[in-house]
Amino acid sequence: MIPPDVSGHPVFDVPLAARMGAVKPSATVGMTRIANELRRAGRDIIGLSVGEPDFDTPEHIRDAAKAAIDAGQTRYTDVDGTPELKRAIADKFARENGLTYGTDQITVGTGGKQVLYNALMATVEDGDEVIVPAPYWVSYPDMVRLAGGTPVIVPGGENRGFLLSADDLRAAITPRTKWLILNSPSNPTGAAYPAEALRALADVLLDHPHVMVMTDDMYEHILYDDAPFATIAAVEPRLADRTLTVNGVSKAYAMTGWRIGYAGGPATLIKAMATIQGQSTTNPSSVSQAAAVAALDGPIGFLAERNAVFQARRDLCLRELNSIPGLGCRTPDGAFYLFPSCAGVIGRTRPDGRVIETDTDFATYLVEEAGVAVVPGSAFGLSPFFRISFATSTENLQAACDRIRAACGKLG
Ligand code: PLP
Repeated sequence: MIPPDVSGHPVFDVPLAARMGAVKPSATVGMTRIANELRRAGRDIIGLSVGEPDFDTPEHIRDAAKAAIDAGQTRYTDVDGTPELKRAIADKFARENGLTYGTDQITVGTGGKQVLYNALMATVEDGDEVIVPAPYWVSYPDMVRLAGGTPVIVPGGENRGFLLSADDLRAAITPRTKWLILNSPSNPTGAAYPAEALRALADVLLDHPHVMVMTDDMYEHILYDDAPFATIAAVEPRLADRTLTVNGVSKAYAMTGWRIGYAGGPATLIKAMATIQGQSTTNPSSVSQAAAVAALDGPIGFLAERNAVFQARRDLCLRELNSIPGLGCRTPDGAFYLFPSCAGVIGRTRPDGRVIETDTDFATYLVEEAGVAVVPGSAFGLSPFFRISFATSTENLQAACDRIRAACGKLG
């Protein structure tokens, strides 16, 4: 019996699909919501939970978008990208990665997120396994589950630089393995796979010809200390016909809101992904596509300047957090995240008598006591850690670190 609502009408009990039981809302979005609620209640909260650059989209890219609107580029485009953008992407892959893709091997979607989702929906059958090294970007396991697959989580410990080892990969592969998902530099750890590490993984994959590789290279351009970037299809060309190389303009070009992501891969897969996109969202925004052409074809000198700012912030946070008893942080190679361990505060007691038993308890304590919003490691599949994004001002970061230090100092 459905209880009536206040007006006396029966409340319709929406019968959600069974697949909704397999997915949960993004944890990073969840922490942002808590922070916003506390803010609305008048609390001063420093948000370190959001994963986007605090820089503006460069002017030449914004200008290209305005020109596209004035030139009437405001209509539907080809479903998976305009010919101009596909050409710019093919040029980018050739120029920056040494990868050769024809335009029939390139797809454009509404963010890298949609591209990853399309690829999984196009290929994963019920019961297929997808190897997801942990800590992982929050959306991979849930996307796999939505597609009917089973995420096989393989922890890459901090002592191994948070990277998947060749032995662990070999042990995780079964006849049902459909994909391995790689993400370098990584969200949440900032760890990047050097070419030698990819070489070792490629050797394992060559022994297992049924396994495909989805490599999420979204943070390619945000690397520190002159670390070179490597991607698996370039390291081992014999894997290229079963690799989907995913990238996008969100992070490098500070274009998160424009929603353009893309991938290069085998034509059969690319065509299937376009079919899914054509029956769901159709083309990404025509104006954003024109802007992305300007981004990929345009100058990239601003990247070095921005990376220098990110690196200074990274170093500030590392210095501060590594000097707080109970916390410890590995130096990230890229992206704009730190993933410190909070093992040293687990089991300690808050001033209100509650014991911190998990990294979620610690993240809750930080937002409640210190007014600093971070994301617990459990959201990324590895505990006890937490993620902070340092894509915010130096003043904010210094204040956040001071507050975290003070909050840790109050633990019994
Ligand atoms: N992949 C990783 C590792 C990310 O961190 C993100 C965004 O946070 C994405 C993919 C999706 O990026 P977008 O959909 O904005 O292109």
